[in-house]
Amino acid sequence: MKKIKKNIQRKTLIYKTEVEYGDYTMNHVLGCSHGCLYPCYAFLQKKRFGDIKTYEDWCEPALVENTLDLLDEELPKFMNKIQMLHLCFTTDPFMFQYKEVQDMSLAAIKKINAAGVKCSVLTKGILPIELAKCSKENEYGVTLISTNEAFRKRMEPGSAPWKKRLAALRALHDAGCKTWVSIEPFPTPNIVRQNLQALLEEVAFVDRIIFGRMNYNPKVTAYKEHKMFFNKCAAEVIEFCTNRGISYHIKDGTITD
Ligand code: SF4
Repeated sequence: MKKIKKNIQRKTLIYKTEVEYGDYTMNHVLGCSHGCLYPCYAFLQKKRFGDIKTYEDWCEPALVENTLDLLDEELPKFMNKIQMLHLCFTTDPFMFQYKEVQDMSLAAIKKINAAGVKCSVLTKGILPIELAKCSKENEYGVTLISTNEAFRKRMEPGSAPWKKRLAALRALHDAGCKTWVSIEPFPTPNIVRQNLQALLEEVAFVDRIIFGRMNYNPKVTAYKEHKMFFNKCAAEVIEFCTNRGISYHIKDGTITD
């Protein structure tokens, strides 16, 4: 396990997101040790607005220590407006090997559920089995863009090995929880050659699949057939999900003319 080196305080926590499949969200950590190199959109934004100076700073997470107090203040105000509170858009709630982050996220989810609000969770870490004791309305997800472990180590260096990530998700599924997978940002074959069908088979037990293309990476646009490639992949996901009765969402901009 790794230790958090810095705690921070925030004045507010819950906010309405502009992200297409999101509702309300909270980000109770600044930075993310997973250090994804696609690159990470949250890192680019935080750097642009001066919250973070370097990639190394980004990979050294700072925990919002007053998270639970902020939830006590804000949940009564927001509880009737929120359909689903998402953890997280600009960090990872179950950051691999950071027990303090994981414990805070679990405590936050329990508090949110106690207020009658359901959560959706997305991670590249390990979802703890204790989540099975939380509201069965919650939705637990992992990001999985490849089943190539060498690629995972290269592009998501601090994240959990993909097999462990998926095993934790499956355990929650087996315990009766709603589960989903985000296959985003999906890379082009010049970044990694892979079989999308094989990846889909690995995640076929989930209730919902989100699929989206990789952006902000010059190698994607350098791949001449990238539009055709993403159209074909999206069609494959739709066909797979339709045949298996899995709900799906294709992110805006993935299918183009
Ligand atoms: S896990 Fe998410 S927030 Fe963390 S570095 Fe990767 S893309 Fe960014």
